[in-house]
Amino acid sequence: MVEASTSILWFRRDLRLTDHPALLAAVDSATHVLPVFVLDPRLLDGTPRSRRLLASLEALAKDTRDALVIRRGDPVEVIPRLAKQVGAHQVHVSRETTPYGRRRDEKVEKALADQGCALVATGTPYAVGPGRIVNQSGSPYKVFTPFSKAWQQHGRPAPAGRPKRISWLRDEVRGDPLPRVPRMEAGEAAALKRWKTFLHDGLTAYDRERDRPDLDSTSRLSAPLKYGEIHPRTILADIAAHSAGRSKAATAYVTELIWREFYADVLWHNPRSAWHDLRPELARLPYDSGAETDHLVEAWREGRTGYPIVDAGMRQLLEEGWMHNRVRMITASFLTKDLHVWWPVGAQHFLDHLIDGDIASNNHGWQWVAGTGTDASPYFRVFNPVTQGRKFDPDGEYVRRWVPQLRHLGGAQVHEPWKHDNGYDDDYPTRIVDHDEERKETLVRYERARGHS
Ligand code: FAD
Repeated sequence: MVEASTSILWFRRDLRLTDHPALLAAVDSATHVLPVFVLDPRLLDGTPRSRRLLASLEALAKDTRDALVIRRGDPVEVIPRLAKQVGAHQVHVSRETTPYGRRRDEKVEKALADQGCALVATGTPYAVGPGRIVNQSGSPYKVFTPFSKAWQQHGRPAPAGRPKRISWLRDEVRGDPLPRVPRMEAGEAAALKRWKTFLHDGLTAYDRERDRPDLDSTSRLSAPLKYGEIHPRTILADIAAHSAGRSKAATAYVTELIWREFYADVLWHNPRSAWHDLRPELARLPYDSGAETDHLVEAWREGRTGYPIVDAGMRQLLEEGWMHNRVRMITASFLTKDLHVWWPVGAQHFLDHLIDGDIASNNHGWQWVAGTGTDASPYFRVFNPVTQGRKFDPDGEYVRRWVPQLRHLGGAQVHEPWKHDNGYDDDYPTRIVDHDEERKETLVRYERARGHS
């Protein structure tokens, strides 16, 4: 008879049971697996992101038929204590790659080692683990396109499937109750359903429609990917097996997933870039601050800039906890280049409100727009909120959905209320800055910072 033994599976950004290499490793290592999630107080900050996490945990608890143990506290104390309590010699995890996660795991690993227990990392939340792709001289890629080519040539394992049998350790360890969460879509089954629906109904139009915030044409998988309710490996394998797997549309979708991998890789190699300019030569760029700027930033946060597509995006963010990618770029450009505010101010606001808030994708997405990040020479790229609105929301549907004060304007008229006699009939605010003036000002500042004048 096999002697009973227990390993711990410590869940983090991998809240699923399928295609989960660390779960398979845990199942192989002992007769029983104790599934654990540690509610670090920093995760319970009341943001939409933290509510989304709780909803995902609720679903995971059901998927483990209530074997999941939730413990509040600092993982550096909680995990070793639990390991001691159940006599575990191994704690299994998916390797964490963010600066905070890496620091935490080093501490947990050391505390476990002191009591003869190993922290075993298998897999990551990415198809190719951050840090694995380097150029011929062994250095990381700094620009997306060569990274993307190398990523595509790099092999990756097939999806790992689901363990045939899992013996969860039950009833031996008491957990803390999960705080109550509002109903929202979350969990592995919902993620897989959303993905399959998009694969069958949305993928083939993705390249044509993905930039249109007025259409529901993207997969909305950012939150499920963020919490690991689905792994990108599963998505990539399904695309490869699909009849349209090599189409332009599928390629465009895979490219977006590679952006996610790229930003995680950039963060892995440059942990400081989470909150500091990646390009040091632009660290000298002057920004505005003070009471007057605070006032303008407040208008931006609340969707009162007087630029309809910017306001629609900021209101969608506050109401839905999500914003379309094109509009994320437009609103980020407005804060950094029309209001001349340093990007971390906006990045923090996004993280405070997005359900998919992710330090790598968000903060490097902000740096990409601000021109301080990974792109070669984008400092002169200043999004014009009017032409962007007219191009990507051609009938004005998106703006009318989020800005009721403009609903009386038909079609693309919504993008320029100042051109219509009745534009301000419903108290829509007038423009807080003049875009053309601020664009010129931005170019002057960037040229100066680069030492060109
Ligand atoms: P789809 O178009 O269906 O794309 C599929 C998946 O690819 C997404 O779920 C996402 O995981 C990935 N992806 C798509 N575009 C990007 C991109 N530009 N960078 C990195 N990954 C991408 N994404 C986040 O997941 N979390 C964030 O906090 C975040 N903040 C952003 C902030 C700014 C300023 C910008 C410009 C982009 C940000 N993005 C962020 C990237 C992108 O906007 C979202 O991933 C996307 O809008 C999510 O919607 P979707 O799942 O329908 O995307």
